[in-house]
Amino acid sequence: MNPIYASQADTIFDVMSGLAREAGAINLGQGFPEWDGPQDIREYAAKSIIDGPNQYPPMRGTPALREAVAEHYGRLQGVELDWRTEVTVTSGATEALAAALLAVLQPGDEVVLFEPMYDSYLPMLRRAGATARFVRLSPPDWRIDAVSLEAAFTDRTRAVVLNTPLNPSASLIGREDLALIAAQCVKHDCIAISDEVWEHCVFDGATHISMLQAPGMRERTIKIGSAGKMFSMTGWKVGFACAAPKLTEAFAKAHQFLTFTTPPHLQSAVAFGLAKSRGHFEEMRGGLVRARDRMALALRQEGFHVLPTSGTYFSAIDLQASGVAMSDSEFAIRAVKECGIATIPFSAFYVSPPTTSLVRLCFAKSDDTLDQGVERLARARGLMV
Ligand code: PMP
Repeated sequence: MNPIYASQADTIFDVMSGLAREAGAINLGQGFPEWDGPQDIREYAAKSIIDGPNQYPPMRGTPALREAVAEHYGRLQGVELDWRTEVTVTSGATEALAAALLAVLQPGDEVVLFEPMYDSYLPMLRRAGATARFVRLSPPDWRIDAVSLEAAFTDRTRAVVLNTPLNPSASLIGREDLALIAAQCVKHDCIAISDEVWEHCVFDGATHISMLQAPGMRERTIKIGSAGKMFSMTGWKVGFACAAPKLTEAFAKAHQFLTFTTPPHLQSAVAFGLAKSRGHFEEMRGGLVRARDRMALALRQEGFHVLPTSGTYFSAIDLQASGVAMSDSEFAIRAVKECGIATIPFSAFYVSPPTTSLVRLCFAKSDDTLDQGVERLARARGLMV
């Protein structure tokens, strides 16, 4: 077995969801909404299965979806894209991340990553023969320190992977910090692989800024999106990679041998969904903000310290500040087994364990699930303080 995978644990999301199923637990761990996405988009997909086409779509994605992606980002983010040469459809953002890393990296290259980080980045870049250099972000504001950032870049740096809004910290990388990364990319002639899957889940009047919009980055960024996140249908696995034509060409070469294509009916339905008005996405955000606030209030009433949440489906609680003197992993395992509440420990998002002790909770759930989840967390806290 390839040693990179031999030493790789199963992803924390699957492990915690498995334990949650076994224990019949409330699952605030893995990030999926408790509701199905918009009915009209699902009906569109169902009708497309019956009406077809059901054969291989073009390798880079159906023209209808690529046009819809370009139109959507132009209208809602001010990012201008040529759908013919700058958009590739993938089987989820996970595939887009893998294709981007495989397309850009060679053995011996270095990649800058920010911790905490999504768990697919590191094994995939190592599988491409590269090594990682880390920049650690810290609560409560998760800002990028210019000195640490500069120290992470070397003559061998080929790429940086960033994620904004950032899962699991629920923070956004602001314009200033994007510019810091951009300056290093320009200086070292690097590509940015910008994981923006949470771009529509930004709250309290904030706007998403794409790395494509940072100074000097239009020609050196691969922006990655996910229809699963945009439409609250995480099982759909339809992603997009948007980049300047030369980068898109390299990207598509890797994509063609990973999945080649993505089911055509889902592509048609996502194209239909992307044409929805700004109001549709605002309404979705409104629902998430209500859920975020309901959970945070209940958690605070139970004595938990809740970190600020600017985006994503997630909020974090600080165990130490909540009076629980225990590692995040130990708390998460005991909470699911003994109290029937699944969470995700932040340490899963780091290579070497952080000094903080945070667990991530998904609030894209019904009121009832959130209320019961907090009740069980309170019980866990009671057992473990
Ligand atoms: N990147 C991040 C930061 C994510 O949170 C996720 C999903 N949780 C993905 C990528 C994967 O997205 P997809 O399901 O479209 O593959």
